[in-house]
Amino acid sequence: MKSINQTIVAPTTSLTNQAIALIRISGDEAFDIINKLIKYPIDKTKNVLFKKLYDEKELVDEVIITSFVAPNSFTGEDVIEIACHGGILNTQRIIKLIIKKGARMANKGEFSQRAFLNNKIDLIQAEGINDLIFAKNEMALKIGVNNMGGIYNNGILEIKNQLLDVISRIQVSIDYPDYDDVEGSSIDELTLSLEKINVYVDKLLKRSKLANSITNGIKTAIVGKTNVGKSSLLNALIQEERAIVTDIEGTTRDIVTGQINFQNLTLDLVDTAGIRKTNDIVEKIGIEKSLNVIDNSDFILLVVNAENIYDQDNKDLISKIGDKKHLIVVNKKDLISNKDIIEISKKFNNVIFTNASNYDVDDLINCIEKMFLNEELLKNENLVLINIEQINLVEQIKDKLLKSLNSILEGMPIDIVNVDLNVAWNLLNELVGEQYDEEIIDNIFKKYCLGK
Ligand code: GDP
Ligand code: ZN
Repeated sequence: MKSINQTIVAPTTSLTNQAIALIRISGDEAFDIINKLIKYPIDKTKNVLFKKLYDEKELVDEVIITSFVAPNSFTGEDVIEIACHGGILNTQRIIKLIIKKGARMANKGEFSQRAFLNNKIDLIQAEGINDLIFAKNEMALKIGVNNMGGIYNNGILEIKNQLLDVISRIQVSIDYPDYDDVEGSSIDELTLSLEKINVYVDKLLKRSKLANSITNGIKTAIVGKTNVGKSSLLNALIQEERAIVTDIEGTTRDIVTGQINFQNLTLDLVDTAGIRKTNDIVEKIGIEKSLNVIDNSDFILLVVNAENIYDQDNKDLISKIGDKKHLIVVNKKDLISNKDIIEISKKFNNVIFTNASNYDVDDLINCIEKMFLNEELLKNENLVLINIEQINLVEQIKDKLLKSLNSILEGMPIDIVNVDLNVAWNLLNELVGEQYDEEIIDNIFKKYCLGK
């Protein structure tokens, strides 16, 4: 949150020779600064004033000053807009004067950035505080703290600024075909920018889904053949007799669930019926459910019997799991020798040995925690969204980005591409809880692009 309060200035129109140039000042000192350049202080009740600008005693220009008092301005701060006589020299001279009186040059997009920050900070903090209150584990706590720090906002801003840049360039090439060369917006460049944004959005989505599952409980399925010890494992993990454990094969016909809070994460466990070829109709339904559970889970514990791990059913299960995050839990380790354990360890890189009936599952818990803690997610600079509605919005944004990329590849007119991008843009605004008037957005785009 560096120098968020410092007053900033920038031309909002192109510096090429136009009759009138527009300069925008935003920040707490906007009025103080402009008052140092005019004879009588601005009357804040009057929106538009004709004024003479002075550098000490020397007349610089005759200008029209439009003032907006916070929070009723684009940035939410005090804003002064100066319409001065155009031309690079004159405009630059006035900007230098404003900087001399205490403002600094704005970064590209910083006005929009302030608008976003000013409107959103409360929501972000609320979200962060909410996460802290409901944190089930330490990782959730950490994510909550990160969000309170406003990292959330900055990450979204990056996407917003990039998308705004693309849309602006397209907008300009539609509105001012002659500007094409100036803006350098060849189709290749647009495609590249869009692909970059898409990669960023995709990462955001993946991180957020992971964060979401960590904070709310990772949807975890315990799968495996009948009688390998799935129910016993669930019991050992939740340390209560919730699932039925029995010697008769095929008794877990319904799906049993339990939640478990480790130090750093929470698992929503589902014990499924044994995966086994069977003619029993009731059991068959259970098996179909199991396969669905794999599809609907984020993390799979494939339980195998230590005495019999290399059979066809297990191989089928592994291929069904595919590249989903999973661990192979070799249960009943008490029934095999240490030598066997070493042999099996050599063959797989994601196996863990347990003795579920003896509640010996510590290795498994440590391994699961490590798996999730090692994620990039924990790094401070990474933005995550935890709210499921927000994640859904990002999903839609990604759809629109892909659609517009496809349109470009198919050689569709740029206006069509623009339509999808504008939808993505609106969704992005919805994501941070902001929706601007379309007309205003148009203006921002044009100014943003032509401005510097
Ligand atoms: P599921 O059908 O996969 O859910 O298996 P269960 O949890 O119902 O267990 C089947 C049988 O294996 C029960 O008799 C358990 O007591 C036994 N069992 C479970 N875990 C272990 C283990 O680690 N070692 C041994 N020796 N037996 C176990
Ligand atoms: Zn069972």
